Amino acid sequence: MSANKVYLLDGGTLVIDGYHAFWNRGPGGELRFPCYAVLIDHPDGLYIFDTGYDHAHVERVLPFEKPLQTETQTIPGQLKIVGLKPADINYVINSHYHFDHCGGNIHLTEASTLCHAKELEACGCPQPFEVLGYSDLSFSPEMQQQRGSEVLNALPLDIYTPKFETLGGDQEIAKGLWLFETPGHTAGHYSLMVELKNRRPMLFTADACYSKKNMDLMCISSFHLDPVASLNSMQRLKDLAEKYDAELFYSHDPASYPDYQLAPNFYS
Ligand SMILES: [Zn+2]
Repeated sequence: MSANKVYLLDGGTLVIDGYHAFWNRGPGGELRFPCYAVLIDHPDGLYIFDTGYDHAHVERVLPFEKPLQTETQTIPGQLKIVGLKPADINYVINSHYHFDHCGGNIHLTEASTLCHAKELEACGCPQPFEVLGYSDLSFSPEMQQQRGSEVLNALPLDIYTPKFETLGGDQEIAKGLWLFETPGHTAGHYSLMVELKNRRPMLFTADACYSKKNMDLMCISSFHLDPVASLNSMQRLKDLAEKYDAELFYSHDPASYPDYQLAPNFYS
């Protein structure tokens, strides 16, 4: 049995410069974009793909991204509007560990955490230009301890003990729930495809492609470990969408977002 329902959990917005969103292209200027998490109601359990950002963390460490997030746009707030609580979630999948994709993990204390093995490794030993991206380590007190003095958001180490399950390669982690390797933005980046009964599969690019405009221009964002791999991953997403007749859902797309159905509405 494939997934029953997919909910998009709105997580508020952030700001970056247009030259970051469209690398070496722009135009420059403030670009406010949405962040969201994906909740999948599957016969094998409740999955969340990415968990958005933690408002207090962004205010403290990256205030120039001007976070706008209400209580309702937090993970507990979004789960509440669909009649769930954080302890109900069985699995968290993180596309990658940038702060705007793992900030809500800390609420999901009963869940097992799935990620690419290379991503966990990269987050533990980031390149100098990745330190702000990998600045929210609340998802792993152990990682926080390992990174030591440079950690920007030290939390009590006993706050949370996540269970990690690391993966490699493309994986069907549950019936109709596919993780596809899309590295470049980060070392171990995964995109997710969800098959549903009554509609085309949903292919969540995560940060392998911020927006439809990035895809149309084949223009990557400036936040990347490897620009050539990023571009190849964008092409891979295009090819996967065609192969599976899947609909692409972009991670930070102010133009497409108003057309997405947000929780409590759902896709089935
Ligand atoms: Zn992101």
